[in-house]
Amino acid sequence: MFVTNHVLSGVLIGKALERRPVAAFVVGFGSHLAVDRIPHWGCPKGVDGYSEEFLRAARRDGLLGLAAMAAGALVVDRRARPAVIAAMVGAALLDLDKPCNHFLGFNPFPVPMRRLHTWVQRESVSGMRNEVAFGAVFALVDTVVAVRGRGRERVGALSDPRACERA
Ligand SMILES: [Zn+2]
Repeated sequence: MFVTNHVLSGVLIGKALERRPVAAFVVGFGSHLAVDRIPHWGCPKGVDGYSEEFLRAARRDGLLGLAAMAAGALVVDRRARPAVIAAMVGAALLDLDKPCNHFLGFNPFPVPMRRLHTWVQRESVSGMRNEVAFGAVFALVDTVVAVRGRGRERVGALSDPRACERA
């Protein structure tokens, strides 16, 4: 699955575990394998493991994923931010193998982890629709959850008696 989709699912996980950043990271990490079980896009690999088509998609996805991570960190309320960042990083972590391999020439994960990551994949050339649908649904749900969280934070601040002293 695109790393952007892992990041978007991380926002929800972080919000659900907003008081527990360590748990959010662990659940985010585990969610990567679950999300990779959803049928998704993949293309035939080139000689060195990556085709031009794959690299083009990976570059766009990498940039979009970084933007989603920045947006996720910015839009959630302050209280949830550490857990949301932890969950997004955890959810995206396993996909560091591709940039590490491509730019640095090594895979940072132990062989059993790599095998598991490869084994869970359900890729096909027709999986792009699922990628886009997953991304659209999660982006929408993330936005709703983040906006509600911010609203709650504002209401909390207004009903806080100390808010008058601070004002
Ligand atoms: Zn993956």
